[in-house]
Order: sequence, then structure tokens, then C-alpha cells
Amino acid sequence: MGDEKSKFQTLEKELKKEFNNAWEKIENRDEVFDLADEYKSFLDNSKTERLCADEILRYAKENGYKNINNLIDSKGSLKVGDKVYSKLKGKAIIMAIIGSEPVASGLNIVGSHIDSPRLDLKPNPLYEDSNLALMKTHYYGGVRKYQWATIPLAMHGVIMTKDNKKVNVSFGEAQDEPVLYITDLLPHLAKDQNKKTLAEGITGENLNVVIGSIPYGDDKIKEKVKLNVLRIFNEKYGIEEEDFLSAEIEIVPAGKARDVGLDRGLIAGYGHDDRVCAFASLKGIIELKAVKKTAMAVFVDKEEVGSHGNTGAHSKFVENTVAELINLQEDFNQLKVRRALANTKVLSGDVGAAFDPTFPEVSEKKNTAIVGNGVQLVKYTGARGKGGCNDANAEFVGEVRQIFNDNDIVWQVGELGKVDQGGGGTIAYILANDGAEVVDCGVPVLGMHSPSELISKADLFMTYKAYKAFMNR
Ligand code: MN
Ligand code: MN
Repeated sequence: MGDEKSKFQTLEKELKKEFNNAWEKIENRDEVFDLADEYKSFLDNSKTERLCADEILRYAKENGYKNINNLIDSKGSLKVGDKVYSKLKGKAIIMAIIGSEPVASGLNIVGSHIDSPRLDLKPNPLYEDSNLALMKTHYYGGVRKYQWATIPLAMHGVIMTKDNKKVNVSFGEAQDEPVLYITDLLPHLAKDQNKKTLAEGITGENLNVVIGSIPYGDDKIKEKVKLNVLRIFNEKYGIEEEDFLSAEIEIVPAGKARDVGLDRGLIAGYGHDDRVCAFASLKGIIELKAVKKTAMAVFVDKEEVGSHGNTGAHSKFVENTVAELINLQEDFNQLKVRRALANTKVLSGDVGAAFDPTFPEVSEKKNTAIVGNGVQLVKYTGARGKGGCNDANAEFVGEVRQIFNDNDIVWQVGELGKVDQGGGGTIAYILANDGAEVVDCGVPVLGMHSPSELISKADLFMTYKAYKAFMNR
């Protein structure tokens, strides 16, 4: 018989690990495209961490999640299957579904971050020069500055007015709304700039956004274009120049996420890092029904600047929320919180660098995720000799691998570039410091931290399935 396998082929199949294209393992591709369509609109509505937290809250409420503060205030208690959320300062949010085992016995958590690299307005941003009104920015997170010039930009954020009223600012997304713009040199005059490195060609202080060009006022007014911009800001939002001090205004790429490729297998969009993992865990948790261990989806801010501050992963948000859950379930003591966290298992849901066939020299192909090969498991991140990493314990990685295999999840291994090429980190080590088992696991991305990042719909699908299976373990 010609198709009979030799004993060597049988042995090869038994022993060798082949990484597969996830598309070839997906029976119903419509499911993948439907999830991707929903994700694109989630992403379009989530241009900042605040907007993303609002979007997650909308999903939570629509799916029966109740504000934990109402339970706390009414001195209520938690029952198995209850769904609660906690929102923190508009920038971070936690959702939890209560398991049949007590919270104090530990949880299953998927944690992701909802802040993305961007340009923030400085506290005194507005000035006029050469008939243009411009605004000074300070970049947030790791951006390659030259990528942000000559593209349409939108503005989103909040401003606290003189009398402490909160005003939402948002424009640049709809086709009929104006956008902002950062200039770059024309090639004809770029002789000196061309000699600079990519890192220096556009500097941080070059990232000035054009916001106006029409003058307003009479001869007694010195900066008429600036005055006109202030007049329009005041008409639209009731704000004045001093209010920019008490504001958080973010300049982000304008426009919607788009399918890429004739076959529509990929999505280009701003902020896949890390809103794609946030979305995958959001979809996962809202589809859970009865769980043994309490499942929690954590969405935090400030990862791109080191997870500091009271909305980042270094804050007490997770710990405090676990404490509240325990207190709503049984007699409270602090030791129970510590034990719960030490018995918790976490997928740190963050994107990773995909292998780029145009720049193969920065990666080591056997250990880098390939776009389309499914969710990536990243045992460690870090830089140089794994510096700053959370190196997941073999026992826990083994457990996660088994969950994925049992649930037909196409997974692959990932590493952030080849040894000594660079590096990076996630929130993984932060929860691990409380004793939890943590491993990084998420969607591979091309062009990470650029104004338009690229992911595969199949990888999004497998990541969602992976998070859901994990929270259900
Ligand atoms: Mn990230
Ligand atoms: Mn990042």
C-alpha cells in the first residue's frame, strides 16, 4: 500500500512538534470573520484608555455585570454565578464571574492593558507661528517618532474647566470632522535630515500638531490664529487656555481599523497593543456560564509607561478587588487575600512581536511567533539575559499547554526578538510578585507601536478561545 506510513514517519509524527497555520485548523471561518468585525468596531470606539474602559463597561452592563460598589454599599453578599465589575477612575476596569469555589481559594485571571502609545498634549500646548496655530505634545510610550508625521490625527480626552466641570473632547474620527497634522520635510530640503538616524530625524519637540490657520480679531490682537482656535474651543467645549493644564488630551491616528489583503485575513488598526487582548478576554469572560474558580478579566492602564500610578498594574486595584470579593463572601481577613492571590493563575494577555519576513534579521525564527499560527505563549520576556522578565514556571506552562491542546487551540511559542536585539516587558511579573502563576500569552503583531499595527484574524480568534478556556479551567 503506497499511503501506508513507514515506522519512521510514525515516529516523526509522534515526536516532532509542528506549528500549524491556524486558518487550516478552523472549520467555520465565518466565526472568525464575525469576531473580527465586532473587534474592529470595539477598536474604533476605544481610541484612548478612557474610551476603551467605557466600551468594556458597556459590554459588561449589557451582559448582566453589576457594579460591585452597589453590593458593597448595600452590604450585600455574593452568590455563585454572580457577575460584577469595578471601574477605576475611568481608566481601568475589572470584571469577575463568581465561581462555585470560594474566591479565597484563588482565581483564574486574564490581565491586559488598555493604554496604547500616543502623543499627549503638554499642559501649556497652544502657540502660533508663521500663520499656523500648533500644539506641543509629549509622546507616551515607545513610539518611533518619524511614523507620526504627515498622517491624519484625531484628538480625544477630558478637560477639567476652571469651575471643575469635566468636558469630553473628541474629534477627527468622522469623515466630515477636521483632523490634526504633524509636518515633515520635503525630500528636496531633507539633505541634512536624511543623514540623521531614524530616531533623530523627527525629534520629540518636532511632534507639534497643526490645529489652525485662520486669523480672528483686529489689529490690536497679536496672535489672531491662536485666538481663533481658542474661540472655537470655547464655543465647542466651553474651555479657555488655562484649562489645558487640568486636561488629559491624547493625539491618536484618525480613522477606523481596516481589513488587509484581498482575502481579508488581517486587520490594520491603531492600538491592537493591547486592546486586541483586552477584547479577546472581554469576549471570553462574557461567554462563561458556570465556573469553578472565580474568573476575572483585568483591564489596566499605564503599561506602556511602566505600569506605575494608581490606574496601572502596580496599583492595588486587583488586590483590593479580590479583597472586596472575599469580604462579600465570608468573614474577612487580610491573610485570605494573600492566600487567594498566591493560589491564582494568570494569563498576562499582551501582544508580542511577530516574525517579519521583511526584517528577518531581528528575530530567531524557531522561537518567534508567525502571523496566522495562532495565539502565542511567551514563557519569558525581558532584555539581554532575560533582565526584568517573569519567567513562567515549567509546571504552569505545562498546565496551560494542556488546556490549549484539550480545547483545540492553535498555539505557538513566542519570544521578543533574538537574544540581545532589544526586549520589553508586560504586566506579567507584577501579579507574579503576589505569588500567582503567570505566563504571557497573546496575539502576535507586525508593526507594533506604529500608528497602524497589523494582526491576523485567526490569531485573534485563537487568543479569544485560549482566554475563554483558561478562565473556564
Ligand atoms: Mn502591550
Ligand atoms: Mn506596547
